[in-house]
Formats: sequence, C-alpha cells, structure tokens
Amino acid sequence: MTELLSNYLGGTCVMGSGAGTPLFDPVLGNELVRVDATGLDLAAGFDFARSQGGQALRAMTYRERAAMLGAIVKVLQANRDAYYDIAMQNSGTVKNDSAVDIDGGIYTLGYYAKMGESLGDQKYLLDDEPATLGRDKEKGVAFVSQHILTPTHGVALLINAFNFPSWGLWEKAAPALLSGVPVIVKPGTSTAWLTQRMVRDVVEAGVLPAGALSVICGSSAGLMDQLKAFDVVSFTGSADTAKIIRSHPAVTERSVRVNIEADSVNSAWLLPDADASSDSFKSLVREVVNEMRVKSGQKCTAIRRIFVPEAIYNVASEAIFAKLAAIAVGNPRSESVKMGSLVSRAQFNTVLLGLAHLKTQAETLFDGSTLALVDVDPAVACVMAPTLLGARDPDGNSLVHNVEVFGPVATLIPYKDLAHAKALIARGEGSLVASVYSGNSEMASQAALDIAFAHGRVHVITPDVAQIHTGHGNVMPQTLHGGPGRAGGGEELGGKRGLAFYHRRSGLQVSQSIAQALKVST
Ligand code: NAP
Repeated sequence: MTELLSNYLGGTCVMGSGAGTPLFDPVLGNELVRVDATGLDLAAGFDFARSQGGQALRAMTYRERAAMLGAIVKVLQANRDAYYDIAMQNSGTVKNDSAVDIDGGIYTLGYYAKMGESLGDQKYLLDDEPATLGRDKEKGVAFVSQHILTPTHGVALLINAFNFPSWGLWEKAAPALLSGVPVIVKPGTSTAWLTQRMVRDVVEAGVLPAGALSVICGSSAGLMDQLKAFDVVSFTGSADTAKIIRSHPAVTERSVRVNIEADSVNSAWLLPDADASSDSFKSLVREVVNEMRVKSGQKCTAIRRIFVPEAIYNVASEAIFAKLAAIAVGNPRSESVKMGSLVSRAQFNTVLLGLAHLKTQAETLFDGSTLALVDVDPAVACVMAPTLLGARDPDGNSLVHNVEVFGPVATLIPYKDLAHAKALIARGEGSLVASVYSGNSEMASQAALDIAFAHGRVHVITPDVAQIHTGHGNVMPQTLHGGPGRAGGGEELGGKRGLAFYHRRSGLQVSQSIAQALKVST
C-alpha cells in the first residue's frame, strides 16, 4: 500500500479513517500516494479555523499579514525541488509547465506580500471618500457616510480544480490571508498531493497562526454543509459542479458569499489589418501553439477558438500545423520533451470524447494522434499530442462556441468582417480571456472595448509589446481573473480588488470628525 497523506484541520495533522483514494502517475501508471477525508470532524475543524485562526489573523495589521505571506514564500522556495518532483510524478508535466503552477503560485504570494505592506498598520480599509448627509452650518459640523471594508468573521473554503494544485491554492489563499480570513482548501483529488505537501510544509514551519491554513484531501462530502453566515466559498472547476455549489442551502439560505471560476471557451482574434506576413500574425501563431502545448491545454484560460480573416484561414492553418508538428510530446522525464501528459486516465478519456464531439461539426487540420510520442507506453500513458480543428462554417457550428475540451485542442475559425468576428466571439457567452492581435493600435483598442463586456480580461498584442507581454493564458495577480456568463461570473485577483471578496463592506454614518479620524489612522 502507498502512503496515506494526512489532512491538516483543527490546528493539527489528522488522518482519514478510510482506505483512501489512490493518486497515480499519469505517464507510468503506478500508484503514488492515497488521500482520504473519511471520519474527519469537519464541524470542529471549521469552528477551530473560525475562532482560533480568524481571531489571530484579525489581531494582526495588513503589514503584519503581508510579512506572514513573505514568510510563506520563503518556506515554499526552500522546498521547490520537492514540488517539481511531485508535479512531474502526479501531473505529468515538463519542468516549464510545472513552473507555471509552482512558481506562478509563489509569485502571486510574493506580489500580495509586497502589496499588503503598502496597506500599512491598520485593520480595516476605507472605501472611497465620505459623502455629506447633513450639515449644521452654525456649529460647523457635518454628518457623513463613509464606507469601510473589514475582514469577514468566517472561513474561506477554497474548492479547487485539478489543473493548478499550487497556483490555484495560492491565488486564492494570498488575498484571503492578507485580508485576515482563515483558509480551508479542498484540492481536486487527482492532483491533491502537491497542495497537501505545500500546506504541510507551511503549517509545520509555524509561520502562520494555528487554524489559519487547513487542507482536506479527498471527498468533498459535507464541506458545504459546514458553511455559516460569515463564511465565503471560492470555487474553481466545471460548470456542472458550480451549479451544485450555487444551489446549496449555505448559499441559497445562509447567504454565504460565493465566487465561481468555471469553464470558458476563450478566443484569440487576429484583426483584419494583419496579413500573413505581419508581426501580428506571427504573434498569434506563436501564442496559439503555446496555449495548446502548455500543461497540455489543461488551463482554464487556454485559447480554444482562433479567429482569423477568412482570406488567411488556409495559411494560418499551415503555420500552426508546422509548429505543432515540431513539438516533442511524451514522458516529461525525457530532456527533449516539451509537452507532457494529461493528469489522469479519466481526463484523457474526457478529452477524447470532447474532441470526437467537436469533430462532428469541424474538420481536422492537424491530427495529434499521428505524432510519435517520446518514451511512453501509449497503452499506459495519458499523453496526448495537440489537435487543431477548423470550423469553416462558424455560424452553423453550434459546438465550437459551447464545448470546452479541457486539453490540447483548439479550433481555427474564419470570419468575414469585424462585426462578424465580434458576434462569433460573443457566442462563447462569457469567457475568462480573449487576446487581440493587430498592428493598428486604434483598431486594437476599439476591438478590446467592443468585446470587454463578455470577458474578464482582454489581452491586446500590438507589435510594440510583442516581446514583453505576459502571455494570453498567464494570470497575473495585478489583473482581474474571472469572467461573466458561462465563465462563472467571478472575480479574483486584480491587485487590491482581490481583497474585497474576503471583506464585508459597511456604510458608517458618522460625524465628520469620526470619519476624519478613521482616515488619519489608515
Ligand atoms: P470539477 O470536477 O468541477 O471539480 C472541481 C472541484 O470541485 C474538485 O475539488 C472536486 O473534488 C470538487 N467537487 C466535486 N463535486 C463537488 C461537490 N458536490 N461539492 C463540492 N465540491 C465538489 O472540475 P475539475 O474537473 O477538477 O476541473 C476542470 C474544470 O475546471 C474545467 O472545466 C476548467 O475550465 C475549470 N477551471 C476553471 C478555472 C478558472 O479559473 N475559471 C481554473 C481551472 C479550471 P474532486 O476532485 O474530489 O471531485
């Protein structure tokens, strides 16, 4: 039997009482570890986090909590090699892809450590300027409305997807902890090992108050039932599970605040000014191939739909084909390999099914199944090479705008003119991100404004920033992450904006002198 991983709850390390769910190496097929949450006293664990963890965190200032995030960064940096090893074994990722998750998480923590320092030695945040409600001119006094943000007195339950066991944890936990709210994380089971190991390292290093950070690995059963009025839940995962979370009595009856990051059919859009010889065309091709390769397309932000002027549909197909055909796909342990595995057999089968579904309305422009895989047994490994589809009739194609295949699959789509492209992009019904490629800044800016209503982020690549942009799929903590409609309607990160979810906004109606004193002490 492999090792059963511990949970951390109620300020202590606690084992599940069941046999556990095995986690596998998706490349070699062997069992790695097991996770189990059977028999945990969830009610006591949540209460401990609320009372002990919450109180201790709220007793600190933003600056002190920022320093605490800095201490977490140091712990994680000291153990980076172990994390890379776990990621390769359990997620089947090549080193560069593990970095997106591991170093992306550490960077996000570091960003909030620095940002939090600038919030100073206070325990609340002011929201906007005071508004006058009444005035006594003779006495020279005023009665004003001043909005403030104070940390919520509950726990933040973070339910995460399998694709980002590190970044998915820290992009939520950093703003929560900085806000003074204790965290209980439930990672996606198939890759829970990395999350568990990071939490274990941080808890055992003693850099956080007891109860500030807990991890429950394994079944989600009963977690939502624990949530009370001042708790919040931040969920990342599929639209189907999001529906279950949204309709849980914790949300519908106890008004537990919920943030949903769900699936998304993201777009890359080459504007009509760009022909096949332009820098914009090259940027688009590079970015599309990158998004299909990185983490084998298992990124919520990955490009799924590629919009190009219809005159260059064929040449775009050929350019992307040439780059996809040159990618070495296979065992991440092999030096030459640039694209590793999907995370599990279940995920592999789901991607195959989704691909077959999309193919019923699309042509295949590059068939990944024709590529030879490096150093893997195809009968065992969940390794899949990228596939490029084409939708020559995007108006009649209902699937390409609706079906998110969570793997290395994207579809090339020709459009007639700007209005046509905008209408097609909007058929995604709300996405996390779209990228726009153009040599014409004015046109690019207008295009971004026109599609912003349907996106959490619009990433505009003009030739002047072609070498310095941060990438279509990379979520930067400075910028909002989330999207309207089918993307879940959530908002995360975006610098200081990311703290709002973990605070309660209240309007104080007070004398002007009290309002001034509140301001002076911030
Ligand atoms: P999932 O099946 O919905 O699972 C997400 C999380 O919810 C997992 O931790 C899962 O636990 C848990 N869960 C399942 N049923 C639950 C329930 N009844 N109550 C509470 N929690 C429950 O999604 P996934 O397959 O892990 O992730 C892939 C999806 O996530 C894709 O659609 C992708 O687009 C989306 N995603 C979105 C973002 C974003 O930021 N918008 C980021 C990454 C991924 P188990 O693992 O134990 O089932």
